[in-house]
Amino acid sequence: MKNKIFSLALLALTSQVNAASVQEQMEQNPAVKTAVEELVIANHILYDQNAVDGYGHISVRNPANPNTFFLARSVAPSVVKVEDIMEFDMNGKALNGDTRVAYGERFIHSGVLKTRPDINSVIHGHASPILPYGLTGTTLKPVYHMSAFLGEGAPVFEIRNFAQPNPDTDMFVSSPELGDALSKTMGLQYFVLMRGHGYAAGASSIKMAVFRSVYAIQNASIQAEAMKMGQVQYLTPGEAATAQATIEKTIGRPWQLWSERVKKTQ
Ligand code: MN
Repeated sequence: MKNKIFSLALLALTSQVNAASVQEQMEQNPAVKTAVEELVIANHILYDQNAVDGYGHISVRNPANPNTFFLARSVAPSVVKVEDIMEFDMNGKALNGDTRVAYGERFIHSGVLKTRPDINSVIHGHASPILPYGLTGTTLKPVYHMSAFLGEGAPVFEIRNFAQPNPDTDMFVSSPELGDALSKTMGLQYFVLMRGHGYAAGASSIKMAVFRSVYAIQNASIQAEAMKMGQVQYLTPGEAATAQATIEKTIGRPWQLWSERVKKTQ
């Protein structure tokens, strides 16, 4: 009995120590503190900007360890707090003995971050304007300068092609293998559509990933409207590359607007 009580006390102590691990890293390293705090704000912005709803998530690579990343536990983005942030390895395994429920689709993040050293932040969501492109084979392409990063068009991840022997999945990227397949479909681009599900976006920073998600969704709406009117003039690959270089220097401006909006509502 005494031993059992001792074990339980030790377990409680261990989980307490482990649960503080992200917090400890924040205390020890200002870059980690900034990344985690920015990740929390980004969660709120993505909800405020209709890029996510009760579902969807954003991750950031650990600035102190390129082989791990931070992602909230399984809660709605709008309510994420610093204490909700967990740390994962590149197989989507929770670290620090953290046993809290994680997002089932954390493998989207591990799959992309593992193979793309140029990407430090990944967003996954289901915003409805994006969906028709993955369904019809109509390519999501940049119709204006704000979403120039879409380049020559977003590839589509077809989960049926990677789910063997039974192609009838629940549509979730819920394993390291499916995360790797999604990342492979994304290739060297920064945006991938997921047929019948949503999208994943990547960027070198949290701010850039948020910017790209918001404007890719706007692009999807504008492109659909334009297609109803007639022949659409897309940005040429040259225009897309030039416009991307210019616009992505200015992402601090919308970030300031969006972050001040969510601070006011807290
Ligand atoms: Mn999803």
